[in-house]
Amino acid sequence: MPKFFTEPENVKGNELTISSGDVRHITKVLRLKEGGVITVCDGAGFDYKAKICEISSDAVHCKITEKTRCDAEPDMRVTLFQGIPKAGKMDYIIQKTTELGISRIVPVMLERCVSKIENKKAGEKKRERWQKIAESAAKQSGRGIIPEVSEPVTLEEAIRELKTLDVFFAPYECEETTRLRGILTQNKNARTAGFMIGPEGGFDMSETDRLRSEGIPTVTLGKRILRTETAGEAVLAMLMYEIGDIND
Ligand code: SAM
Repeated sequence: MPKFFTEPENVKGNELTISSGDVRHITKVLRLKEGGVITVCDGAGFDYKAKICEISSDAVHCKITEKTRCDAEPDMRVTLFQGIPKAGKMDYIIQKTTELGISRIVPVMLERCVSKIENKKAGEKKRERWQKIAESAAKQSGRGIIPEVSEPVTLEEAIRELKTLDVFFAPYECEETTRLRGILTQNKNARTAGFMIGPEGGFDMSETDRLRSEGIPTVTLGKRILRTETAGEAVLAMLMYEIGDIND
């Protein structure tokens, strides 16, 4: 059954309305009519089985027949702080981490980022496009929320936010002792986590020094060097396994 998103404020009593770009998809692509049944998610963790009762040019009105908590959401809210990679890779990173349960993706402007964000307007344009990719991946994977892609931030802004989370770390291929398992076993009851992945060129030494000086541990992911677009999803999959999200 196709799944769509609406905002919580569009769910009123036993009725809901879809007024996003999905209206065209429902009416023109899927050619659904009154009486058609769809699944609608309110983006706040609830799924609704809904029967279409009225279709207008810019909205689809439905009657709710069933409300369930979306069981596709992990118990831990994970934020990926991603060193902005070369064009195109961010799309892949957003898509794969959304499928794996990420809650938020924060692009970070680091020393060795090849693609630069020229100005706020350019950053917002990229963010809007990346957010659409997150929405599409959330629908495809049946998520209960659409992960938020924030506007690009600096290292300092990322550090400030990382430190507000229950558990935080930065995978770094030159780290030889601190392992991810150690970090996770010390924070068994964590409800929020965040980690930072460097771009293709990795972290600059000054950046790893800064992270460590702020108490953000660098951790090894083993002897093999993972591409920037591999590392984030690998860590996320390990986190999901560790909390029993994908193996219980
Ligand atoms: N220095 C790397 C190289 O020689 O290719 C470049 C960085 S790697 C392509 C991109 C990012 O993935 C790193 O900044 C780090 O965050 C993470 N990463 C990759 N392999 C890792 C490993 N074995 N241990 C910890 N982090 C790793």
